[in-house]
Amino acid sequence: DTIGGHFSRIAAASPQATALIDRPSGRRWTYEELESDVDALAYALIERGIAKGDRVGIWAQNLPEWTLTMYACAKVGAILVNINPAYRTHELEFVVRQSGTRLLISQLTAPPHSNFEQIAREVAQGASGLELVFIDTAHAEVTGEDERPAAIQPSESFAALMERGRALGSDAGAKMPVRLRQAMGALDADDPINLQYTSGTTGFPKGVTLTHHNLLNNGYSIGEVLAYTGEDRVVLPVPFFHCFGMVIGFLAIFSHGASAIIPSPGFDPERSLAAAAEERATSLYGVPTMFIAELDLPNFADYDLTSLRTGVMAGSPCPVEVMKRVISQMHMSEVAICYGMTETSPVSTMTRTDDTLARRTETVGRVMPFVEVKIVDPITGLTLPRGQKGELCTRGYSVMRGYWEEPEKTAEAIDAGGWMHTGDLAIMDADGYVDISGRIKDMVIRGGENIYPREIEEFLYTHPSIADVQVVGVSDEKYGEELMAWVILREGVASLTADEVREFSRGKLAHYKIPRYVEVRESFPMTVSGKVRKVELRAEGERLSH
Ligand code: ATP
Ligand code: MG
Repeated sequence: DTIGGHFSRIAAASPQATALIDRPSGRRWTYEELESDVDALAYALIERGIAKGDRVGIWAQNLPEWTLTMYACAKVGAILVNINPAYRTHELEFVVRQSGTRLLISQLTAPPHSNFEQIAREVAQGASGLELVFIDTAHAEVTGEDERPAAIQPSESFAALMERGRALGSDAGAKMPVRLRQAMGALDADDPINLQYTSGTTGFPKGVTLTHHNLLNNGYSIGEVLAYTGEDRVVLPVPFFHCFGMVIGFLAIFSHGASAIIPSPGFDPERSLAAAAEERATSLYGVPTMFIAELDLPNFADYDLTSLRTGVMAGSPCPVEVMKRVISQMHMSEVAICYGMTETSPVSTMTRTDDTLARRTETVGRVMPFVEVKIVDPITGLTLPRGQKGELCTRGYSVMRGYWEEPEKTAEAIDAGGWMHTGDLAIMDADGYVDISGRIKDMVIRGGENIYPREIEEFLYTHPSIADVQVVGVSDEKYGEELMAWVILREGVASLTADEVREFSRGKLAHYKIPRYVEVRESFPMTVSGKVRKVELRAEGERLSH
């Protein structure tokens, strides 16, 4: 099936069920209302000449218009280009040019971010024929009253586009429903429908080409594993432009008739918890750093989270300590860890609700239905026996079409046998549970010993003064590399020295795994998808240690 076709069937089955709640604006959509808005937008896009295969970019925060755009493009067959809202002129220009975007949907000013409108106009000047549309978010929080741009052309207004679409659809004898049905009839589940850029954790983001088949199957399977039904209400503080929001979020939720709740346009720990408490949500998503920020709120106990049942933690290594707190303090007894990457739609392995507590906190679960996973020796490429560490490779419906117009990079990532090489180190145990040890690129080699920063981080999380920690390697004349721990201290803790950490680790960690340097910070450099950019911590560590 296609994404749009599947959505129509779900909407027809339970038209009155709540599909989407946008807390900042207070707007709510039933499935019927959401589909009618999606269709209106799809008509308007068709009228503007957008057809199958055209690229439509969206560069905006977590707004409900994002959801409408995603489904309208899927119905028309346009390829949605997800663009990170943190991007600025240089990066936006790159993505728009690289993807050949024809129409860019953005938003008006969102303090404290700089002006989306101004940047979009600059980029449009350099890109011939790029059309712009702005989401005119009226609520003061996204658009500061005094910063509201004087006027945008009606042709550039998202609201005007919606109105036009509604008129086209409701005109007596309107051709639009027919044209939309024709457009949908020409779609194939294997058509590319989405271009997503990777997080850029390890370098420059790569454009990943994904199809209806890739995304819908992965989203549906995730919803199955989480046992979503029409009764579930899911809070989504994770970015929509990333597969976490789009696939683990919307596609998993809507393919099971559940409700999606937008707590705020950008991540805000208090409003995420408020959304969960006030909407009696059953599920809450986050990357580990989001859950840490929520759990550490001084007024955490004020939020009634007893309605929560499940949720997803993913995107980067999920510390055992944090998982345990999410289960006990947030009542998310069925919370799942997902492991995957943009290139695999994204989820390759995940924990199941009936896994033991140890497995649900210490592993990333087992392979998803209809997907294959193997662990290979990164040098020889041979499959390793269970229990041995190597590179995780995966094959199946979920593997991307390729990197957008980068055949050489695609050939490097996907081998002749169809296996995607993830660049992640992992071990699979005898029962098929996978443990991710980190990225091949992050591994530290000190005096000939391979050290996986992940292991040291897990250990340091147990230190009473440490709220969050990242371990990196910095170059060293004697040992090749030395370990540096970057720490964020808990509320009320003033300092932490390398000596104190050494004292704490003595007898518990092998001597070569004890960090030589300890540096305290207020926060970590992050990608917008909430991942720590170790590349930057390494570079800064190099400067500090020399
Ligand atoms: P780039 O490829 O641009 O450097 P990225 O790899 O961070 O960025 P994504 O596709 O968003 O971009 O992230 C996929 C990666 O995130 C995986 O390859 C893996 O390293 C990490 N990851 C995802 N989920 C988990 C998890 N549950 N545990 C550990 N690591 C995870
Ligand atoms: Mg990657």
